[in-house]
Amino acid sequence: MARRPGEIVVLRELSGGRIWRAAPWIVVHDLPDQLALYLPRGVDMRISPGSRMAPGGTVLEARVADMETLRLSHRGDAHSVLLWWRDGAFLGWYVNLERPPEPTPLGFDYVDHELDVFVHPDGTWDYEDEDEFEEAGRIGLLTPDEADRVRGEARRVVRRIERWAPPFSDGWESWRPNPCWPAPSFPPGWEAVD
Ligand code: MG
Repeated sequence: MARRPGEIVVLRELSGGRIWRAAPWIVVHDLPDQLALYLPRGVDMRISPGSRMAPGGTVLEARVADMETLRLSHRGDAHSVLLWWRDGAFLGWYVNLERPPEPTPLGFDYVDHELDVFVHPDGTWDYEDEDEFEEAGRIGLLTPDEADRVRGEARRVVRRIERWAPPFSDGWESWRPNPCWPAPSFPPGWEAVD
């Protein structure tokens, strides 16, 4: 069942069957080919301490979102494209390689694939977290086959950036949220993992 615009959903990153990061997001739209979620600045999030390579404990830490994020996920893509703004300035596109968000009772869960691509506002790009990605392969967080698929997805993303294909060419950087949307907060039961 598609989520309605303005609805609050909990987006959670899972790692090893536990919640690694979570925040309440606002649904921009939930279309057959694109899920768009918005996280305003100032929202309370939860983040696992440490890194996946060196976990710092099991208690999630509270963190306040220090920028605005629009998150675009496309059916069939093993990545999402995040747009970041701070104080009205567009900071760039962050391509998060991931197992795409799957619906849950209160929102969506995804699994991060470590490697990311950052696209600057001028369209130039860099890989991010290559060291973590290699380390994840070494310690078995990603199997060799999974790591190959992630590298293949990264190459597809880079070709899309270099052709300046959607969603980069869609003008999302001038999108603004509906001013009537209230700040989202976690609904009861958001921590349940089955
Ligand atoms: Mg990532």
